[in-house]
Amino acid sequence: MQSHYETVIGLEVHVQLTTASKIFCGCSTRFGNAPNSQTCPVCLGLPGALPVLNRQVVENAIMAGLATHCTIAPRSVFARKNYFYPDLPKGYQISQFELPVCEHGHLDIATEAGGAKRIGITRIHMEEDAGKLLHGEGAESTGGSLVDLNRAGTPLLEIVSEPDMRSSDEAIAYLKQLHQIVVYLGICDGNLEEGSFRCDANVSVRPRGQAAFGTRAELKNINSFRFIKQAIEYEVERQIDVVESGGKVIQETRLFDPTTGMTRSMRGKEEAHDYRYFPDPDLVPLVIDAPWVERVRAGLPELPEAKLQRFMADYGIPRYDAEVLTAERPLADYYDACVQLHGNGKACSNWVMGEVTRGLNAAGIGVRDCPVTPQLLAGLLQRIDDGTISGKIAKTVFDQMWQSGQDADTIIAEQGLKQVTDSGAIEKIIDEILAANPGQVEEFRGGKEKVFGFFVGQVMKASKGKANPAAVNEMLKQKLAK
Ligand SMILES: [Zn+2]
Repeated sequence: MQSHYETVIGLEVHVQLTTASKIFCGCSTRFGNAPNSQTCPVCLGLPGALPVLNRQVVENAIMAGLATHCTIAPRSVFARKNYFYPDLPKGYQISQFELPVCEHGHLDIATEAGGAKRIGITRIHMEEDAGKLLHGEGAESTGGSLVDLNRAGTPLLEIVSEPDMRSSDEAIAYLKQLHQIVVYLGICDGNLEEGSFRCDANVSVRPRGQAAFGTRAELKNINSFRFIKQAIEYEVERQIDVVESGGKVIQETRLFDPTTGMTRSMRGKEEAHDYRYFPDPDLVPLVIDAPWVERVRAGLPELPEAKLQRFMADYGIPRYDAEVLTAERPLADYYDACVQLHGNGKACSNWVMGEVTRGLNAAGIGVRDCPVTPQLLAGLLQRIDDGTISGKIAKTVFDQMWQSGQDADTIIAEQGLKQVTDSGAIEKIIDEILAANPGQVEEFRGGKEKVFGFFVGQVMKASKGKANPAAVNEMLKQKLAK
């Protein structure tokens, strides 16, 4: 039964960029170094220190904008977002407000019904991250908390969607696509757990048919796709209960607790005007001319959707295969290289999705570290094609390639795995098997055809899997017919 209520979801995603240095100073953005070792007067917020914009951050913002069909603003402005918190020594965060760098974009997500739905992207803006408060880890002895400002000034893109999503599934589809794009672009490492891709969800409900939005709650900083889905679904139920019981949903920020699966109120939601935004007088307006945009556009990598279409059209693989293979760029690159070397798109996809993926999962490594390179895999597939080995023996060769890094020809030669197609040799084995099993021969000739499989098995076993199965079948038929 369809619910009487409709869910409305808008998402704000913070994408931490992979630039080597911070957005307004030359300090390193490296993760995990000693607290406050990557700071300077600018990111410490000392009086009189002046910010200088990192050009790479702007290029990354343009890349994200182009990949999400945004218009790139020829002129955008940095603004101060004023608030007090111990991890923000300046008392304001440099962000963008009225004039962001990108606007009016969209992503098309796949719907369950098999169609596509367009989700609007309101804006993308650049901003600096704040520092981090440490409540444990050495802070206990002080009886308070400590501040680490290594993260202060780390560049972020905030990507704000329109409230176009109507279910948790749509929200997750949008997030996964956005995540895939920023990782493909190489501007974000995509690590949700470490906070490189953080999501706030604005969730509200309204009676179906009502045009006005309901009051929304903002769910903060959820760090996995599964938790985001859980948080949204819990929140929708909660709001419907509030409305049904005659109450009013209040605008607030809520935290999701993964251990209980519930959200709880953190604070009243502040409005933009609470922050007293104003243009940052230390930074001149950012001017991006058309040639700059075109230079960035020319350097964009092939994006997931284009790659998926190309794999289907040029390599003749089904959509399912193309989706699996393009999910992550390193795997797509690996597959692409295999097909370039071997030529058969479907054979390569079977092996990459089968043996290669299985091996990677078992070893717990990424495809970049795969010991079987595209060259080795293509060499192996060629030996199946030309009949040197059977598909079954190829799996044995693959395992040995994985262990030793040797190529297929070396392994086949050293271990004598070459397929036996010589009919004399096969005939000799068959004669021996038939002579050793007169009872089964009689059964077969008496009409019990299932025994045929027994003979095939025995012959393959006697040949250690090297007999050509087609030749074995053919010759067995002849011999048994006598
Ligand atoms: Zn600095």
